[in-house]
Amino acid sequence: MARTTRLPKGHSGSETQIVSTAGTIFGDGTAVELVGGTGDKPRLLSWNGRKSTIAAQVEREGKIYQPVDLHPSIWKATRLPNSVADYGKGSDLFTETRELLETHLGFSAAEAALATGWICTCWFADFLSSPPTLFVYGSDMGLAITLFQLLSCICRHPLLLAELNRASLCALMALRPTWLINQPGMTSRLLDFCGDSNYRGVLVPGTRGDVLDLVSSKSIFMGANSAAHSWCEHSLHLALPPARRGPPPLDEARQVQIADHFQPRFLLYRLHHLQQVRQSRSNGSAPPMSDLAGTLQTCSPNGNQVESLWLPLLQAQERDALAQRCWDPGSAMIEVLLSLRHASESETAMKELAALTNALLRSRGENREYSEEELGKRLQKLGVHRHRKNIGMVIVFDRANSCRVHQLARSFSVGKSVTGCPDCEEAQVAKE
Ligand SMILES: [Zn+2]
Repeated sequence: MARTTRLPKGHSGSETQIVSTAGTIFGDGTAVELVGGTGDKPRLLSWNGRKSTIAAQVEREGKIYQPVDLHPSIWKATRLPNSVADYGKGSDLFTETRELLETHLGFSAAEAALATGWICTCWFADFLSSPPTLFVYGSDMGLAITLFQLLSCICRHPLLLAELNRASLCALMALRPTWLINQPGMTSRLLDFCGDSNYRGVLVPGTRGDVLDLVSSKSIFMGANSAAHSWCEHSLHLALPPARRGPPPLDEARQVQIADHFQPRFLLYRLHHLQQVRQSRSNGSAPPMSDLAGTLQTCSPNGNQVESLWLPLLQAQERDALAQRCWDPGSAMIEVLLSLRHASESETAMKELAALTNALLRSRGENREYSEEELGKRLQKLGVHRHRKNIGMVIVFDRANSCRVHQLARSFSVGKSVTGCPDCEEAQVAKE
């Protein structure tokens, strides 16, 4: 999040540490945040818990904090607040945001409220174990761009991009951006990479022999392709409404006006609540990663009014995803593997797993038979390892495979926990 270099200080022999930052939160709840500056150079807003001051750099505890050094085109592409501004009550800010999305996009109140909830999570992404991804679907790219233009006025450190790849994701991370990705043709490989790297503590090898933290808020426009529905672990889904005539124009002047209104208000909202959101994570009252509603609630304190609108929609989407998973061969395989593990099997042949999975799917009304090879590939993608033996491919329930199967069963909400199973008990302790 912050890079440090040392600067020799005169002849005294002592050194001043230069810290380049895109935002730093200190232990006592004070903070340094990026704000707009003059020309291409941003400045830093220093927050002491009650008041803010703005300067080119901030000195604190013998260290000098400076805005992270990025290419001028990146500063042009993002939007930063110029200062902080009073937001009234939290509920006022959320209602204003929701109404803006309704007016410009024709979203229903529930859809606009869900997008508002997601916007709140991007202002606290640095405190979340896995910030939720917002997938957007629709056939009208113009409307998707309008949505992303609005989001780029309201989200924290927004970057609206197309043609994103793994290298650019790593290179631009120093801004700690909210990614707004217009990429209907995104490969499933890149989608998987985005998903796999979005867990706090999971690092990705960089190009300079370093490792990078890529945990970040993302919204991805998928076009009419709903393939991302299978990547539904910890993500929100919004379908764009049919195009309408006559929404208010969203030219650059109007976008600047919207950003000038919302950016300073959301920044103050973040500063007022960062201790509360951070503490909920450190004292264990934070919801488990799979609890999307809990994550949205944590990031929108006093947001009851908007929550009453998005909660029923999110719950309906979750029920839908659960119903779809009944026919998903990956989820069925995990259900079978979990029950085999609980029957104290030490391993199972891929052939047997395929037969049991097809039988389970048939009992649910599925006519299609999946081959051993097809299921093997899916299993590999899910991170469950197979071993080659003389009887063919087998899944050995070693520590790693058993943990992974339990983890997947929890995230797919399949199977039951069993008393006496160490992996089930571990999950129970983690939950408490
Ligand atoms: Zn178990």
